[in-house]
Amino acid sequence: MTTTPETDSPLLAHIKRRIAVSGPISIADFMTEALAHPEHGYYRKQDPFGRAGDFITAPEVSQMFGELIGLWAAVTWQQMGSPPKIDLIELGPGRGTLMSDALRAVRNVPGIGDALTVRFVETSPVLRTHQQTSIMAYGIPATWHEAFDDIPTRSGVPAIVIGNEFFDALPIRQFERGEKGWAERLVGVDANSGELGFVRGRETPVTDALIPATLRATAKKGDIFESCAPAIAIADQIARRLNETGGGALFIDYGHPGSAFGDTLQALKGHQYHPVLSEPGDADLTAHVDFAALSRTMIEAGARTGAVLTQGTFLRMLGIEQRAELLKTSADDDQKTAIDQALSRLIDADQMGTLFKVLIGYGRDTTPPPCVSGVAG
Ligand code: SAH
Repeated sequence: MTTTPETDSPLLAHIKRRIAVSGPISIADFMTEALAHPEHGYYRKQDPFGRAGDFITAPEVSQMFGELIGLWAAVTWQQMGSPPKIDLIELGPGRGTLMSDALRAVRNVPGIGDALTVRFVETSPVLRTHQQTSIMAYGIPATWHEAFDDIPTRSGVPAIVIGNEFFDALPIRQFERGEKGWAERLVGVDANSGELGFVRGRETPVTDALIPATLRATAKKGDIFESCAPAIAIADQIARRLNETGGGALFIDYGHPGSAFGDTLQALKGHQYHPVLSEPGDADLTAHVDFAALSRTMIEAGARTGAVLTQGTFLRMLGIEQRAELLKTSADDDQKTAIDQALSRLIDADQMGTLFKVLIGYGRDTTPPPCVSGVAG
């Protein structure tokens, strides 16, 4: 019999009751409760961004990030022959900062302002309001959608899809290599302490689609593989859409370029790491993104992808250093220091430059733009 301590939050009590009724739940189910519970979920009830929030993302570090992504989008649009209509889709737009900086950067590109419709994929009502406010000044039509697949496809209208720190928030399952086979890591309630804890499920057959055969062949006891079915599903939907209408996609997230073993589930609250099961709904939960799995999925769907780049390489390629110099020409000394610090944070190897990766994909009939180096200057 599970008792519910008075100190448990309503969401923690709810999760414990769920486990008491039906047994241990998958990590994916735990993440879904913690992040997306309609009333108490982390992304449903608060604005987690910025210096006062739980974490800071690249668009919140500097305007340069969104500006350069806007320029990548504009170049991709031009490469497609500047079509008269284009859907600019952003997955998980947070406060709308990236989109606002992107729109400001591209508004002088002739014709693009009339072509653009912005489509936000966002589940949080609080953040939808922020996004609306952020882009209001540009007068570009915008719509909001619960999921990527809810966005209507318009005949002859290509899409440009961007997502920064979107995939890392999607629920993962973990599989642990045991003596003979693989068992799912589950979340249960410890009979003695009454607290949530990890338990091993029964060993289950695992397919190549779940864990690539070449990786499985190298597995040792205790190795953990993370699988993110929703990310795979969305990458597949995006690839199919880009094949149908033409267009490109740009995903930036922290993660690994090749599928690998490791437990990367983590909780952040107030810029500090927290035990992952301790405060569902009150801490952000993320896992590293398996970029190889996203790329494989898009290729299997018939789309094309480039190599997985580091954020540092990608932003340098787009001309972030020249952009920083240009910003500094009209800045005072304090602002110059702030620009240098932001630049270092975004591109240096010991900051976000290496841990964060970039994957670019294109529809099968879309020609990728040539190297866009220098465009920002
Ligand atoms: N891109 C922003 C925010 C990243 S945080 C930035 O870089 O600052 C993750 C974002 O994804 C938030 O906007 C969150 O509300 C949204 N989100 C999380 N899970 C989602 C889901 N399943 N569907 C749509 N949006 C989701």
